[in-house]
Amino acid sequence: MALSDLNPVERNEEGIAAVLGILKQQLGERFQTGQAIRSQHAHTTTYIPTQAPDGVAFPETTAEVQEIVRACAAHRVPVIAFGVGSSLEGHTNAPGGGISVDTSRMNRILAVNPQDLDCTVEPGVTREDLNRHLRDTGLFFPIDPGANASLGGMAATRASGTNAVRYGTMRENVLSLTAVMADGETVTTGKRAKKSSAGYDLTRLLVGSEGTLGIITALTLRLQGIPQAISGGVCPFPSVEAACNAVIATIQMGIPVARIELVNALQMRAMKNYSKLDYPESPCLFVEFHGSDAGVAEQAETFGMIAEENGGGPFLWTSVAEERTKLWKARHDAYWSSLTLRPGAKGLSTDVCVPISRFAECVLETEADIAEMGLIAPIVGHAGDGNFHVLVLMDVNDPKEIALSEKFVARLNMRAIAMDGTCTGEHGIGQGKIGFLRHELGHGVDIMRTIKQALDPLDIMNPGKILPGN
Ligand SMILES: Cc1cc2nc3c(=O)[nH]c(=O)nc-3n(C[C@H](O)[C@H](O)[C@H](O)COP(=O)(O)OP(=O)(O)OC[C@H]3O[C@@H](n4cnc5c(N)ncnc54)[C@H](O)[C@@H]3O)c2cc1C
Repeated sequence: MALSDLNPVERNEEGIAAVLGILKQQLGERFQTGQAIRSQHAHTTTYIPTQAPDGVAFPETTAEVQEIVRACAAHRVPVIAFGVGSSLEGHTNAPGGGISVDTSRMNRILAVNPQDLDCTVEPGVTREDLNRHLRDTGLFFPIDPGANASLGGMAATRASGTNAVRYGTMRENVLSLTAVMADGETVTTGKRAKKSSAGYDLTRLLVGSEGTLGIITALTLRLQGIPQAISGGVCPFPSVEAACNAVIATIQMGIPVARIELVNALQMRAMKNYSKLDYPESPCLFVEFHGSDAGVAEQAETFGMIAEENGGGPFLWTSVAEERTKLWKARHDAYWSSLTLRPGAKGLSTDVCVPISRFAECVLETEADIAEMGLIAPIVGHAGDGNFHVLVLMDVNDPKEIALSEKFVARLNMRAIAMDGTCTGEHGIGQGKIGFLRHELGHGVDIMRTIKQALDPLDIMNPGKILPGN
């Protein structure tokens, strides 16, 4: 993708110069303009070009975020919220320059309410920080994108991960948010009640809004009890089709599987070498069950039978924590292991999601496309949700390879949409997927634009993202 392909945003040199002066005075050392720090606060995870902001602010309170947004609004300067920068579609880029608002100093856990199974945190708390903090309470926060992302960033991208098949995504797990809106006012979108019918659902409007409507400064999240028993294991299959069919049967039978992840043969090769796993180099399902001792044993047995009926097995499962941890660490390291398949290459991760009945068909057609186009592109996926990642390994210095990879991704996204699915199950639109939004949602894009114009008439909140330029 060339810079010229990205949604252009006009630079406002005069406004930017004014805001740089104001923020330096307001925040002192907590406002930085060095080249290195600016580049780190833009998109760096894929081949999408880096578009650095003009300055990086490190606020510590909601009031400071309000001051920053008000200064930017007064001078019509873009404001781009920043968590840890692990997003994959150019979300944190500053195409028209502006101010990156790094939330890493807003990292306090404000309240944990074990009796209500919820907590309130600032946006810079990462998912691993939160789970470390919760360890002694018997509770955990289940959403686990591969990166140790910030909870603000996860809400803003409506993230999910391996546990979503059982516990849902950020959409289901954010009870309420506080956000600084484009005019500098704050809004709190709900209370701590488990459900509410009070008017428009502003929580869900902000979840997934990618910093284009407001900057989240606090989140109230649902927590889960750590299950009495956890068991899991790996089950090999003779083909991807057999593995996919086993997933479909597991979900359609209503087995309350906590995780069910597809790893194709090429990805398995990478994981075996990188994470020292001792499993066959064939398509595999990584599976985990949560519940009582008897419950997880029964679920594992039923899954084993389904696997066998689909030609898979043996399904070797364990309740030993260390063995399970090793497996899931390998799964979470899939991105890094796959890069070893082509040293020097950069990965382009896709994330289509289709209704579960279309899952096998979508994966198989995609594998055929990978072979036909001669790409090196392992597959790993949150199969229980009908969601999978193809990691296209490409030489980012070769324009022909970039063009081929983009062609492949376009075909994949359109295939998923044609199957009544989505071009993005969890990564979001950012800059990279803008071209697919109208194919997927049609007139819905116009409604989104109306909302954006009403809430951010000056277009200062993360401009150039989600919505097509015209
Ligand atoms: C190896 C790897 C594996 C991954 N696996 C998964 C996965 O399994 N599932 C998944 O869902 N994602 C996955 N991702 C993508 C990424 O981790 C998620 O998108 C994550 O939610 C981004 O969080 P962040 O803190 O890095 O946000 P950033 O990248 O910093 O920001 C992302 C977007 O959110 C906005 N934002 C950040 N903070 C705020 C805030 N406080 N208020 C308003 N807007 C804000 C930004 O402006 C930007 O638009 C993976 C990424 C990598 C590198």
